[in-house]
Amino acid sequence: KKTKNQMLVIFGASGDLTARKLIPALYNLYKGQHLPEKFVVLGTSRSFMTDAEFREKVVSESDFLKSKLDKEDKDFIQQFTNQLFYQDLGDNYTDSYANLAKRIKELNEEHGTEENYIFYLSTPPSLYESIAKNLCDQELTKEDTGWKRIIVEKPFGYDLASAKELNDGLHHYFEEKQVYRIDHYLGKETVQNLLVTRFSNSIFEPLWNRNYIHHVEITNAETVGVEKRGGYYDKSGALRDMFQSHLLQIISLLVMEPPINSSAEEIRDEKVKALKSLRVMKDEKDILENTLRGQYVASQINGEKVKGYREEEGVDPDSTTETYAAVKFFVDNWRWKGVPFYVRTAKRMPTKVTEAVIHFKTPHHQVFPSQDTYRQDNKLIIRIQPDEGILIKFGVKVPGLGFHVEQANMDFYYSDLDSAQVMDAYERLLLDAMQGDSTLYARADEVEAAWNFVDPILKCWKESDAVTTFGYAAGTWGPKNSDELIAEKFGWRNPGDL
Ligand code: NAP
Repeated sequence: KKTKNQMLVIFGASGDLTARKLIPALYNLYKGQHLPEKFVVLGTSRSFMTDAEFREKVVSESDFLKSKLDKEDKDFIQQFTNQLFYQDLGDNYTDSYANLAKRIKELNEEHGTEENYIFYLSTPPSLYESIAKNLCDQELTKEDTGWKRIIVEKPFGYDLASAKELNDGLHHYFEEKQVYRIDHYLGKETVQNLLVTRFSNSIFEPLWNRNYIHHVEITNAETVGVEKRGGYYDKSGALRDMFQSHLLQIISLLVMEPPINSSAEEIRDEKVKALKSLRVMKDEKDILENTLRGQYVASQINGEKVKGYREEEGVDPDSTTETYAAVKFFVDNWRWKGVPFYVRTAKRMPTKVTEAVIHFKTPHHQVFPSQDTYRQDNKLIIRIQPDEGILIKFGVKVPGLGFHVEQANMDFYYSDLDSAQVMDAYERLLLDAMQGDSTLYARADEVEAAWNFVDPILKCWKESDAVTTFGYAAGTWGPKNSDELIAEKFGWRNPGDL
């Protein structure tokens, strides 16, 4: 695809995400010759900086760029940073947006970016609507000359009502086709590969339904705690931070019907339908039975003392915010009737892993019965991170007398592929937006459908006295009762078991 000449305007350019993710991703695109011939980045935020200070800041705050400075990349980094500019917004918004518009126009003239602009909002979400309005007031949203796009970061809303409000707000100033809601999980190769695994393999496609699948399990585990994000996290929690966005995106790709082609709208139409078919838990009883929340408590990991969540900086000492969330649900449609889905996401787990496991049913008639039938069932394990790849578990005969069955693995690692290196998620997503491809961005109705499922759980967790936040020792697989949620014989799969 051709990438047209353009300008990327980053709001929140003095922030963490810009230095840690956006600028390194742009640098890789530059080095890989993916950027158009005429391209500039204009950073903006309230802090004052000159262009030179901005260039220096983003390099010095990016471990990735810093590590490359001594090597042959030095000249590349220099050339790349020459394309970075900065304009402060100060505190006086009316004047500052006029100044920003003036600078955009000047840079556009000087660098030939053809009035094609992407506005990347990497600021607190409370500013999204007012930034969009100011851009509109400065006539920077009209597409009569050059196209205009807006990328917004997560979190997209705090609940269904605020997500709708945000969508409505943005739609006052931008059409939906101009809005790109980023979910960096969709930029991961392994997440995109869910579509290819399902729809390019006739060995999987016929089995992908209630007739052959017993249950589906998804684990997203981090070893770290809340780190420096305690203040933010305490208002959010695992269900909002991970499940509503990244995990429901993965679920929609696992659950959706085949799209009629690979266009952005066809794929997203099917994802929305999938999200709408998740059975919404309406009453307290349902939610108490099918969800579990937990919080890590102080413990020792490898002999080192680890703080409990409530002792973390920025966290309320009486907080009930969950760092562990597990949800069991069903999908009410023809394909998935009766198949339970179990999903858990947590911090301070024993390993860092994200995987989806498709557990297939036991063969109807067992010629070679095994003591351990369930463990012998076929499993398709999609490892999203780390060690990206796919593992199939299938039964083989144990050599020797009789017919004893044991599980063997067929394993594929992405790293074994010789072909081009895997692009980082931000790199891929930025390039897609530059090329006008929104397939891997969330559409307004998709985000609302995801919140619609999560909203009643959040409400019940907040309001009901019957909901407990169970403690779990940091470095363990969650609260002691976490296996009660997964009504399967062997509980949750241990992702460490290969
Ligand atoms: P951050 O370090 O706090 O940066 C926020 C940026 O917004 C700063 O540049 C700040 O600069 C600017 N800003 C704040 N108030 C402003 C205002 N009134 N007008 C204009 N600019 C303003 O946050 P971050 O970690 O970079 O995150 C940015 C966004 O990305 C957030 O929405 C966050 O949820 C999302 N996100 C971040 C990560 C991550 O890994 N960091 C991951 C996922 C999503 P000034 O103070 O100079 O104005």
